[in-house]
Amino acid sequence: MNRSAIEQGRFLSPSTEDERAVVEAVEKELLIAGRWRPATDGHQLPVHDPSTGEVLCHVADAVPADAVAALDAAAAAQLGWAKCPPRERSDILRRAFEQLIARADELALLMTLEMGKPLAESKAEIVYAAEFLRWFSEEAVRIDGRYAVAPNGQGRLMVMKQPVGPCLLITPWNFPMAMGTRKIGPAIAAGCTMVVKPARETPLSMLALAKILSDGGLPDGVLNVITSSTAGEVTAPLIADPRLRKMSFTGSTEVGRTLIAQSAHQVLRVSMELGGNAPFIVFDDADLDAAVEGAMIAKMRNIGEACTAANRFLVAESIAADFAERLAVRMRALKVGRGTEPGVQVGPLITAKARDSMRAFVDDAGQRGGRVLAGGDALDGGGYYYQPTVIADVDPGARVFREEIFGPIAPIASFSSEQEALAIANSTEYGLAAYVYTSDMRRCFRVVEALEFGMVGLNQGIVSNPAAPFGGMKQSGVGREGGREGIEEYLETKYVAANV
Ligand code: NAP
Repeated sequence: MNRSAIEQGRFLSPSTEDERAVVEAVEKELLIAGRWRPATDGHQLPVHDPSTGEVLCHVADAVPADAVAALDAAAAAQLGWAKCPPRERSDILRRAFEQLIARADELALLMTLEMGKPLAESKAEIVYAAEFLRWFSEEAVRIDGRYAVAPNGQGRLMVMKQPVGPCLLITPWNFPMAMGTRKIGPAIAAGCTMVVKPARETPLSMLALAKILSDGGLPDGVLNVITSSTAGEVTAPLIADPRLRKMSFTGSTEVGRTLIAQSAHQVLRVSMELGGNAPFIVFDDADLDAAVEGAMIAKMRNIGEACTAANRFLVAESIAADFAERLAVRMRALKVGRGTEPGVQVGPLITAKARDSMRAFVDDAGQRGGRVLAGGDALDGGGYYYQPTVIADVDPGARVFREEIFGPIAPIASFSSEQEALAIANSTEYGLAAYVYTSDMRRCFRVVEALEFGMVGLNQGIVSNPAAPFGGMKQSGVGREGGREGIEEYLETKYVAANV
């Protein structure tokens, strides 16, 4: 690999040799008890490049026995790890943060190859992911408790925080690095050991992160990684194992529901970061230029494959046509292509299935009266490309409004009053993110308070921030990641009634 090219950030237009080198550099085996080893039966799982559909490489395909071995390692390491001084845990995270930043170009190329997003977006994700490590390196040394005189003066109340214990962390493919550091960061900071299972489509970023953490001094067994094509089969015995104390999952609401049901058996502590169906509301008093700009970010970040992606554009009647036309102009101008090519803004979707689901959304919206103003079709060729699409006059009953799109389609409907906008916005089982554009201060507070969503972007198209609590209401999840709240998910509260 051309090291100096990486160090100088020259992966703007990587060669085939650069691509091969970053893939070859990744460990492809399971990380269990500090050792890289193949899956028990030697099976391997192919990793594909979504821009071509071709196989990039193979990684180990774990079976349930491997997962149990990973939990054995996590359970064995737990006691010692909990005793590791907070400053040492903090330093390990800090070193990993520095490594991610130093190697951002190379890690971004790896991510683009397995996930498809443009290089600039992959690099932004590496930085975002690294920031969780920095944030939690700072949180590790600030875990504290409480001391109080009992109200009757007869005793003392002491409250202490301790690590929850071994965790199972399951991550999705859309943010292969950041969804990992958002869980691994607080688990390390709190003193928990873990078994991590990344998505089958994007195991490489997680394997690269695991190597960085173990090279940075993380003791053997604290972080164990199992890659597998049989997610349900390998995680089930862990969820049923009394040594496991917590599960943190990011993924679809459908799988989340199944995991919550499974975890009920041993009343496992869970954090669930699930799907979204974000409304993007533009009132008639909004700055329209800013709203269109925000819409582009909220819709097109990550090719629309984000849980926080704007899923339903709700625009005041008097400006709806103008907004739709301006958005269509911007969407038509986007450059679609392989994420490694210079100037590309929209990469391929993750699978052929994802691309085909875009077709179905557009067909359904069209049958219900929606008008396609931009895009509306897949692109020919081997990759899973779909054109950036704008649909106006969408019937709120259309599938594209009711379901999570997870792709580059912007459906627009209009509303005639604030009450109507709020009623449509809240009429979903999801409650992750919402966006509001208005210049009326009173309306800001009224609307923000009435929205049943865990996060609101107020006159801005992005909510993600490692220093803020990320998470959803209703069927978008349970718990929060990031912010001061993030570490609490990995801490147990113990109260001591002291007779002194
Ligand atoms: P997914 O199909 O639910 O998969 C997520 C993870 O769960 C993957 O690692 C998957 O493994 C694993 N999995 C699937 N079935 C399982 C089972 N029965 N038992 C245990 N694990 C299982 O979701 P995805 O398609 O990867 O990700 C997209 C979804 O994630 C969207 O709904 C999006 O909104 C959501 N998301 C939410 C947030 C948030 O913070 N709220 C952030 C990002 C994404 P395999 O890959 O092997 O199937």
